[in-house]
Amino acid sequence: MTDTTEETFPDIREAVRRLCARFAGGYWRELDRDRKYPTEFVTALAQDGWLSVLIPEEYGGSGLGLAAATAVLEEVHRSGCNGGAAHAQMYTMGTVLRHGSAAQKEKYLPKVASGELRLQAFGVTEPTSGTDTTRIRTFARREGDHYVVNGQKIWISRAEHSDLMVLLARTAPREASAKSSDGISVFLVDMREALGNGLTIRPIRTMLNHATTELFFDDMKVPAENLIGEEGKGFRYILSGMNAERILIASECIGDARFFIDRASAYASERSVFGRPIGENQGVQFPIARAYVQTEAAARMVAHAASLFDAGKPAGTEANMAKMLASEASWYAADMCVQTHGGFGFAEEYDIERKFRETRLYQVAPISTNLILSHVATHVLGLPKSF
Ligand SMILES: Cc1cc2nc3c(=O)[nH]c(=O)nc-3n(C[C@H](O)[C@H](O)[C@H](O)COP(=O)(O)OP(=O)(O)OC[C@H]3O[C@@H](n4cnc5c(N)ncnc54)[C@H](O)[C@@H]3O)c2cc1C
Repeated sequence: MTDTTEETFPDIREAVRRLCARFAGGYWRELDRDRKYPTEFVTALAQDGWLSVLIPEEYGGSGLGLAAATAVLEEVHRSGCNGGAAHAQMYTMGTVLRHGSAAQKEKYLPKVASGELRLQAFGVTEPTSGTDTTRIRTFARREGDHYVVNGQKIWISRAEHSDLMVLLARTAPREASAKSSDGISVFLVDMREALGNGLTIRPIRTMLNHATTELFFDDMKVPAENLIGEEGKGFRYILSGMNAERILIASECIGDARFFIDRASAYASERSVFGRPIGENQGVQFPIARAYVQTEAAARMVAHAASLFDAGKPAGTEANMAKMLASEASWYAADMCVQTHGGFGFAEEYDIERKFRETRLYQVAPISTNLILSHVATHVLGLPKSF
């Protein structure tokens, strides 16, 4: 296949492709069947330094920036692997990097960079508040030199495979705060100490292998020194991290879309029905071509959003638009790929049905399409707010 653009970061892409070749479809299918965590794959990515590309060199990372990180995750997904088990190790530390104290950065970032510490859990969503984050109820009450946390989180991925978690909790009630987003704070929770001491983790089995969980906090103690930044200002601290997350996940969607397009193009050229390759029929060709066009357009928005982020410019709208376009492109490509494969699209051994299930997530998480449209409608176009 000929790409219409030159690849960015060709050396990184080549190295990531080589690593991914060691984790072929059979590895993922077996884990998927048993809903097991890809420990060997995550370890390999960490050992080769791919999860620390956003950590500055002074803390042991490569400091390459978000555009390079998107190349890593795109290749992971284009290779048929899944970065969902590891991608949070890249961006969750951003809250510590941008808003943590010098002591917190010294203490945690070098170990996150080396992979010695897994900072892979990001605790935001709650069962009752959903996307309306300012209505979270998990509350952290200050008592002397620590906070006591009570509440509940849902859909917190990789919690069982993480040493640390960035946790969002209220430290003042919403009603007592000047703005609804005030009174929310961010903590770094040491899961190793908390588990069984106020923290309970309950896995949730989902349609994809994502190691997601429900968390229950029952008088969980967090040392006051683990508060990140100022108390009550946490909501704005996590926003830039969320932009990085959306751009990175958009790059995973681009990788997925290219995986589906690669597979569909190859199959349509090989599979012969009615005495000719099915790909000779325009009814088969055009959906593949359409998927390619949509993916290339979305990829450019992802690259634009990443370049804004790397330049330290506001990237919220672009991160959202990139995530929306890329997740829609990957879903269209997934559907197209199943259709192109006919019955074989449903066979586990082709990996298409697994990737189809995996890529569906990204129109819902980490932010759903409607909420992105709402952001564009009200923040960009100035339409009246609906909430
Ligand atoms: C597998 C998985 C992994 C996840 N991992 C994490 C994680 O690690 N950490 C974390 O904090 N969260 C995580 N999440 C949560 C995820 O971010 C949320 O599921 C997502 O943001 C949607 O929130 P919700 O499920 O509460 O949906 P809701 O907010 O209940 O919304 C349901 C639907 O209604 C629509 N909707 C809601 N309000 C409006 C409105 N005003 N206008 C129009 N439409 C609206 C939404 O678009 C959505 O389609 C994960 C979720 C899943 C499924």
